[in-house]
Amino acid sequence: MGRLCVIYGNKAEELARVVMEKLDVAGELAKSGKKRPLIGVKPNLVVAQPAEWGATTEPGLVRGVIRYLKERGFAHIVIMESSWVGEDTGKAFKECGYLELGREFGVPLVDLKKDKGVRVEAGGLAFEVCAQVLAVDYLINMPVLKAHCQTRMTCALKNLKGCIPDREKKRFHALGLDLPIACLGKAIRPALTVVDAIAGDLSYEGGGNPVRMERVIAGRDPVLVDAYAAGLLGYGAGDIPYIPLAEGLGAGSAKVEPGAVEELNRGEGLRLDLRKWGQLDKLRRHIGEEGACSPCFAGLVFALARLEEKGKLAGWKGKVCVGQGFRGRSGEFGVGECASGCGRYVRGCPPGAREIVEAMEEWMGK
Ligand code: SF4
Repeated sequence: MGRLCVIYGNKAEELARVVMEKLDVAGELAKSGKKRPLIGVKPNLVVAQPAEWGATTEPGLVRGVIRYLKERGFAHIVIMESSWVGEDTGKAFKECGYLELGREFGVPLVDLKKDKGVRVEAGGLAFEVCAQVLAVDYLINMPVLKAHCQTRMTCALKNLKGCIPDREKKRFHALGLDLPIACLGKAIRPALTVVDAIAGDLSYEGGGNPVRMERVIAGRDPVLVDAYAAGLLGYGAGDIPYIPLAEGLGAGSAKVEPGAVEELNRGEGLRLDLRKWGQLDKLRRHIGEEGACSPCFAGLVFALARLEEKGKLAGWKGKVCVGQGFRGRSGEFGVGECASGCGRYVRGCPPGAREIVEAMEEWMGK
């Protein structure tokens, strides 16, 4: 089995159940020897906004995790979060659908803004972590994979910033974010990370411009999760400074070696519905789409966004073929197995954005 597993789909609760079973989380908890382990679930509820906007964790995914645990006798669970500075976590619990979830399963919702801080030291930095985070026996980190306006990407490591008091969040920003996030990843090691990569924002952590990647990623090493996730946004792990910094501090491994990722299914069948997407603006003109699946289309959108950032789309008039409509057809350049008839194409069903960026750069000759 790979060290990470990926499953494509949009039925969040079912996706969560499959990855929990695949990683045998109940078996791991049973082996821990704790009679009644306290399990903390940490979603990303940065703002009070429904998950389809691309900023917050889909409650169905958390529902799947909790149902799995409860059905196996692990009932001592709390959901914990502190929204970003200026947002009311209670409002976020409500607007994001977590009040119902808490009631449904009898799981308390902990607003970490009301918690006390405990001083820790990691990577040479001293800071406070919320006491209730340190008190759990098994922490399940459930971030959203999305862009971040300062750190480029937010996923597993960055989501842990919701585990510290607001005054520390502000100080982390003053310290430039990357090193403090790496230190935080050293101080708090979640037992499991289950990433909501169903819909994540194209350019901003606060949501509003969702790209539907329609997949869930799960693994036990948050640094490895982030290194893999960076590729899905079209970056290398080294482009997100806190990833190599965290690896350097011993918080995990950023080496996504061959065989490290096990895909449990394929992206096929997840038909694109652009009504659920945000604005694609200028990127759209470079996409020749016919019957594309969301994960393939999402990879191409993130790849084009990276190329635009690098200024490589300026004056460029090319179009990339994507979708099942290109099966058996010829073309200049395509992404995904369906476009294998093109003169050049990027393998995968779906391919990752990083591979698309690299292939397009070669094709464009820049
Ligand atoms: S390669 Fe084809 S079938 Fe596979 S995800 Fe892309 S469009 Fe869908």
